[in-house]
Amino acid sequence: MDYHRGTTSVNDISSDQVVTRFAPSPTGFLHIGGARTAMFNWLYARHHGGKALLRIEDTDKARSTQEAIDAIMEGLDWLGLDWDEEPVFQSQRAERHAEVAQELLASGKAYKCFATPDELAAMREQQRAEKKPMRYDGRWRDRDPAEASEGAPYAIRLKTEQRGKTTITDAVQGEVSVQNSEIDDFILLRSDGTPTYMLAVVVDDHDMGVTHLIRGDDHLNNAFRQLELVRAMDWKEPVYAHIPLIHGNDGAKLSKRHGALGVEAYRDMGIMADAMFNYLLRLGWGHGDDEIISRDQATEWFELSGVGKSPSRFDAKKLQNLNGQYIREAANTELVSLITPGIERLLDGKLTLANIDLLAQAMPVLKSRAKNLLELAESSVFLYKNRPLGLDEKAQTLLDADARHLLESIHAALAKLEDWTIEATEDCVKAIAEAAELGLGKLAQPMRAALTGSTSSPGIFDVLILLGKEESLARLEDQIK
Ligand code: GLU
Repeated sequence: MDYHRGTTSVNDISSDQVVTRFAPSPTGFLHIGGARTAMFNWLYARHHGGKALLRIEDTDKARSTQEAIDAIMEGLDWLGLDWDEEPVFQSQRAERHAEVAQELLASGKAYKCFATPDELAAMREQQRAEKKPMRYDGRWRDRDPAEASEGAPYAIRLKTEQRGKTTITDAVQGEVSVQNSEIDDFILLRSDGTPTYMLAVVVDDHDMGVTHLIRGDDHLNNAFRQLELVRAMDWKEPVYAHIPLIHGNDGAKLSKRHGALGVEAYRDMGIMADAMFNYLLRLGWGHGDDEIISRDQATEWFELSGVGKSPSRFDAKKLQNLNGQYIREAANTELVSLITPGIERLLDGKLTLANIDLLAQAMPVLKSRAKNLLELAESSVFLYKNRPLGLDEKAQTLLDADARHLLESIHAALAKLEDWTIEATEDCVKAIAEAAELGLGKLAQPMRAALTGSTSSPGIFDVLILLGKEESLARLEDQIK
């Protein structure tokens, strides 16, 4: 195989297996954009039967925290993204990074720069004054290091190609070129011996055998520098795929203002992981007009050609709607286990096995209305309330003297029913409504208030059946007294 400059790369012997990586900097939560990048890397690897790797870029000691690492891992886990090897921690590989810088120095592809911070500041100041682009001017590129004073600190800089241009054929952006004169001799190893981010990324990607770099297009600029470094080492060039960033509904770059938060916040808002996965997938990637796409389908279909070239817009409402659809389609048992902890928090007590049975029984009715798991949990609480029920404010207002009077006749009629079914209870209440010349709603509302303590609940006859005859009659009676 022939790569740039006609040399053979160390990776040539290995198979053509796809290897991707997600490389978050642990300076905060796993935000929407990061989660989507992680998913695309994971899907691409899974689609091609390759490997998906995780690298924590924790070299910025001041900003990286264990809390952020935990939050990222937890977020990835929640989304069901797993990795084929133990995560690589970039900070632990500084020695290896330095080794590569030394190698480049030895081969003459990098050089020692003895410029002092003051000197560099003056250089930038002058460039600013002359309204020139600010970049290192190569002052030590061709100078003899012997000219530096004995023991003077130095940085190692890459001797970048200054003529011609570099073109990247990006799997998403297409051909993108930069004039080489725009890329200055950037630092690989600082004078304190620490590697720069640019060096670390390239060395790690190479050592991890990464074949495809799928990441946000805010890194496109870096790609040109990184590619120079790859070429200087005669390493195999990866495929670059820079995905457009996510914007808010107003077209501006996504921020907290748009309701965009860490993925764990969506979990806490009652979004189902599968719904989040589906929503993020569709945010920037498409397969025809398909909206509801399962994980398996996504794995089967995912190709970089499906990634759009323009920024996608985050729409919290759409996410909620999609989540509602996922809840309706989810298995009742799954929903029961997802919301049981939430219900227990609301009730401040444990659910018994009988409670859980009842929840499963109620689920088809409950899930038809909920947009998120919190709503679903809240909507089930009426099943477990102790009598006499506390009424919320609206329910209290609704239960005036007239309403309580109506409840009396409803109670009397229902008490006589032998057959406690949806049809029988409905016929019974309808007959009362007709006799009183009232709409069914006029009866249903006070019943709802008495039976659930609130003014919103599943259909009132469903409520009667779920509570059972004895409990229903008792709750009605509590409000008549
Ligand atoms: N650590 C970088 C970030 O979180 C990603 C670097 C890369 O993907 O090359 O933005």
